[in-house]
Amino acid sequence: MISLGSASAAPGEVDTGRLEVGETRDGTTVGLPCAVVNGASDGKTLYLQAASDGDELNGVGVIQRLFPQLDPTELSGQILIVGIVNYHAFQVAQHRNPIDDTKMNRAYPGDENGTSSERIAAATFGAARRADLILDLHQGSTSQMIDEVRVRCGRHHRLHSECLQLAKTFGCGYVLDQKGPDGQLARAAPDEGIPTVDPELGGCVGWDEESIQKGVRGVYNVLKGYGFIDGSVETERQTRAKGFDQYGAPTGGLVRFKKSLGEQVSAGDVVFEITDVFGGLKARVTADNTGIFWRSRRLPQVATGEYVCSVGTGIDTF
Ligand SMILES: [Zn+2]
Repeated sequence: MISLGSASAAPGEVDTGRLEVGETRDGTTVGLPCAVVNGASDGKTLYLQAASDGDELNGVGVIQRLFPQLDPTELSGQILIVGIVNYHAFQVAQHRNPIDDTKMNRAYPGDENGTSSERIAAATFGAARRADLILDLHQGSTSQMIDEVRVRCGRHHRLHSECLQLAKTFGCGYVLDQKGPDGQLARAAPDEGIPTVDPELGGCVGWDEESIQKGVRGVYNVLKGYGFIDGSVETERQTRAKGFDQYGAPTGGLVRFKKSLGEQVSAGDVVFEITDVFGGLKARVTADNTGIFWRSRRLPQVATGEYVCSVGTGIDTF
């Protein structure tokens, strides 16, 4: 028997339930939707979570499509799933937990006596640390972003090559290999010896079917590549960025992009222009460095200094 919250399953069975983490303001129990898939034969344990940021729904879409297809009688090992991590943010379709105005992915490994986000982090980290591999499904919030996988442990971490291999096996085509900020699950779990990556499944308001399908394929690649299910993975060369150049607006106005997502950028190329309401050119912004057009704001209107886009830099392949 394995269990997670109120979900428990014997070998060859699945179950869904709730992982309790305190109460809402009206005293209702907060129960994160969770599931266990207990394979008929032994193997590794995969931990999968989604909606750590409450407006990032593509990961929920992945789990929704994936879970009904999983056959525990064909599975070696176990899968532990938390389908919605940032419960309070999800309720109000926001990025951050409104109870403590915190980004969940700065609160790991969490504190079971701490703030709302720290308690949720502690509860989910308790599940995550039982695993041999961790996938923390994210996306570029509601901005527009390529589909990529993030390795956040840092290039000098003892688990770096294992995290990189997990990113390659997931196989979105692009990898960001850059040490993340403190409090990320993909920082805290490798410190416990567990290879962990953040698949970043595009960026949209609501669901993007193409990114969701890439996510489903990525999880299946991991299940095949690490022996959970039969089949082999044809890993492809991944394009890796080691950092970002972020560009802000030098003036207020309306942004017109000169590059599209995934396009090569050479130093000196025009990345975007800013025009006034009547179409008059106000500014033309060129790239500082060579790279790949990685992420951009969704709305065209900007104030001076406001975020416009990011170019992935330090590009190579592996
Ligand atoms: Zn996120």
